[in-house]
Amino acid sequence: MQLVFATNNKNKLKEVQALVPKHIKLLSLSDILCIEDIPETKPTIKGNAIQKAEYIKTNYGYDCFADDTGLVVEALNGEPGVYSARYAGPQRNAEDNMNKLLTELKNKDSRTAQFETVIALHLNGELKTFTGICKGEITIEKHGEKGFGYDPIFKPDNFENTFAEIDLDLKNKIGHRGKAVRQLIEFLNRQ
Ligand code: IMP
Repeated sequence: MQLVFATNNKNKLKEVQALVPKHIKLLSLSDILCIEDIPETKPTIKGNAIQKAEYIKTNYGYDCFADDTGLVVEALNGEPGVYSARYAGPQRNAEDNMNKLLTELKNKDSRTAQFETVIALHLNGELKTFTGICKGEITIEKHGEKGFGYDPIFKPDNFENTFAEIDLDLKNKIGHRGKAVRQLIEFLNRQ
């Protein structure tokens, strides 16, 4: 089975490739020569995931899945949420985003947060979505060098370290995207 994973993010591709069974061949956006920015203009994480999967199906004809992730922070009424990538501005810079979040949380009592990933799959003319959630908290400072995005300031519940301090295998096991991807794979295995 051939499936496009609609991402340009090499870290994500690596994370997901490690979970997908060998008989499913993942194609990246560069494999299908898609170099334009795929629109992500919906007001929800789920809406954006569906929009991306439908864009590839409509414009390139491939069965495809797309993911969208947001970091939902309780004390900030769910921000940055769907705006996680451009929280500190259109430059989509991870350091700027983390610095802004740490500043916003300075005087807040609660640092409770969760990562939410929605995967939208377009397969054989049908659309399915899968959701993965990882609960945790935002640390006071950045810790660790691994991973990407908000990983250095997110500590999952029941662990002492941030996502940027743990190995990819463990992140996949307990993380939002891993949970959503495993649901996707279970579904694909039943096809
Ligand atoms: P996107 O859905 O991949 O565009 O992600 C939205 C934002 O969340 C971006 O700023 C990403 O860097 C960040 N993000 C997505 N997944 C993760 C993750 O697993 N760890 C840390 N940050 C993430």
